[in-house]
This record gives sequence, C-alpha cells and structure tokens, in this order.
Amino acid sequence: MLKAHALIFFGPPGAGKGTQAHALSVAFGIPHISTGEMLREAVRLETPLGLAAKDRMESGELVSDEIVSGIAAERLARPDCEDGFILDGFPRTIGQADFLERLLREQGRGDPLVIYIRVASCVLMKRLSGRRTCPICGTIYNIYFEPPRVDEVCDIDGAALTVRADDGEAAIRQRLDSYEMMTRPLLDYYKVRQQLVEVEGDRAPAEVASDISELVSREMASTA
Ligand code: AMP
Repeated sequence: MLKAHALIFFGPPGAGKGTQAHALSVAFGIPHISTGEMLREAVRLETPLGLAAKDRMESGELVSDEIVSGIAAERLARPDCEDGFILDGFPRTIGQADFLERLLREQGRGDPLVIYIRVASCVLMKRLSGRRTCPICGTIYNIYFEPPRVDEVCDIDGAALTVRADDGEAAIRQRLDSYEMMTRPLLDYYKVRQQLVEVEGDRAPAEVASDISELVSREMASTA
C-alpha cells in the first residue's frame, strides 16, 4: 500500500533529510531522489546543467525552478519510480510545489505525504558546518555529534571524508536565509492540503528514523 505513494522529506538545511530519506529508502525499497545530489553530480561532470547551477549552489542560493523542476520530472519518469519514491530537497518553492502537484496528477498518483523534520534553528549551523561525507559510500558524519572513529576518515571504507562546497559559513547563512524566505512558506501550503506530518528532528538519527517509519506506515494504512 505504501508503494504507490510519493513521499517528500521537508525541513531546513541540516534537518537530516538526506540521512532519513536514505534510511527510509532502504527500509521500504523505493528510490531516494535528492535534487541537491543530482545537481552536485552535474557540477562534478561539468554538464551544461551543472555549469548553469554551479555558482548559485556554491553561494548557497536556490537554482531556478525551471532547471530543478526539469531534472525532477525527468527522474520521476524513470521506471524505478513507478511503485513510489522519496523526494529530498524538492520542492523548495511554491512554484516547484505547484509543478509537482500537476506532475503527480498527470502520472495518476495520489497526494504526496510530506514529512516535516523540525529542528531548532540554533542547532542547524553546527550540524551543517560539522558535516562530512564519504565520497565512496555516501555515509554522512558530523564532527560534533557523530564523528567517525578516526578523524576525517570513513569508518566503512577508510576513504578521506569531504566537506561540501556549500558548507562554508557564508554559504550556510545564505542557505538558511533562502529556506526562510522561499521554502518555509511551503509548510502552510501542505498544511492547508492536509498532506503534512511532523517529526521532532533534534534527536539521535535512529530514533527519528523509527518514528518516521511508524508514521509513514500509519498514514499509508489510513489512506489505503
Ligand atoms: P541540498 O543537497 O538539498 O542541500 O541542495 C544543495 C543545493 O542545491 C541547494 O542549496 C540549491 O542551490 C540546490 N538545490 C537543490 N534542490 C533544489 C531545489 N529544489 N530548488 C532550488 N535549488 C535546489
């Protein structure tokens, strides 16, 4: 019953959307789609799209609705999304949310379930500036809250951990500002549509994951 659904992870940068979306994707066997990750890959590969998005991403600004909606639509049309998917970092503006609503309707899917991971803004800066990622397996660490066993080295494969290009202080401030101005209004957008559920994100990732899993199963059962 879960499988026909579109799940959206929503929250400020640093709320843990990527970590939680990854865990749920493994648990429920549906793809985790991160527009940020797709854009970073395009930047790495220096595709025309990556070149168009690079400067805005590195300064912490949002990329245009046109670019992001285009890559999201293309990704959601792939066969592995047929039974459901998890969006992480999309939509981020009212324009993108309207676009997604139309797309889901065209694809004959039900309403999305939006999982809002709530985290106090004072915690976010430390979460973002302490973030380190393994370039090989994608595991995310935090040097303050969840450090690797050996400084700056992945526990799983021993690779040197990397810092995201937009995890510097100025870019973090810009990303938090963009969230407040452009993305936070989506909370009301989805509340009015009764598509939003909330989870307290300022806890250990496993606790948050267990609440999300329960919540998603319950919501899906009630709409089945
Ligand atoms: P994320 O990995 O989700 O934090 O995204 C990293 C960066 O990619 C953001 O700061 C934006 O520059 C860009 N980006 C990702 N998703 C979107 C989106 N839905 N709309 C606009 N820009 C986005």
